[in-house]
Amino acid sequence: MDAHELPAKEKALLTHELLNQAYERLKLESRREPMHELISTMLSHRTNHKDEEKAYYTMLERFGDWEGVMNAPFEELVDAIATTRYPGQKVPQIQETLRIIKEERGEVSIDFLADMPVEEAVDWLTKLPGVGLKTATLLLLFNFKKPVMPVDTHVLRISQRVGLLGAEVTAGKAHGLLLEMLPREPVELYNFHIHMLRHGQRICTFYSPKCAQCVLNSICNYYQDVREKGIDKAT
Ligand code: SF4
Repeated sequence: MDAHELPAKEKALLTHELLNQAYERLKLESRREPMHELISTMLSHRTNHKDEEKAYYTMLERFGDWEGVMNAPFEELVDAIATTRYPGQKVPQIQETLRIIKEERGEVSIDFLADMPVEEAVDWLTKLPGVGLKTATLLLLFNFKKPVMPVDTHVLRISQRVGLLGAEVTAGKAHGLLLEMLPREPVELYNFHIHMLRHGQRICTFYSPKCAQCVLNSICNYYQDVREKGIDKAT
């Protein structure tokens, strides 16, 4: 059997191993505290990191703390986060999220998620306005070291090209399917996620994957198909 014909689970483990060799192994350490991560993720939608950060700090400077942001007049908060795209849509999401957290928990903090079972935590987060499965799983893995598999566009594209997932699998379904194939330790899931992201940005890009330089090419369905059809334009 050729390597690209292996079962998906074996390929997933091989993918993880090959990317571990190709990219630096990382420690799982949260970069920002949980509320910062949650609200910044909302601000970051269609916005670059610099503008997202500017909006975040301007907002807190002008309104003091989360309670101040929660009660800020709509137009003033829109102005504070104006460096982001669609600030008028983001303001109600942020304020509603802050209100829900305050009402349910008595304070604006999501530190309680650390002690919540993982599925319950995913459900709780995805009920917040503007929080989808990707944001919820990123937060739970990065900040709380929970065993979840965040699937972004790079993880999904590479998984489908290599053949870990079928072409019809949605990002929503991919979270659970990949999780079943990979080691459950949060640090392994974290490295898999970050390595796939880097690989997708540098090698397996959307328009012109550099298959000839790719460490996954021996197990990749896409590469085998392209080679069989004799239309290998990979560089
Ligand atoms: S061989 Fe090509 S398509 Fe397959 S993962 Fe590598 S770059 Fe992507």
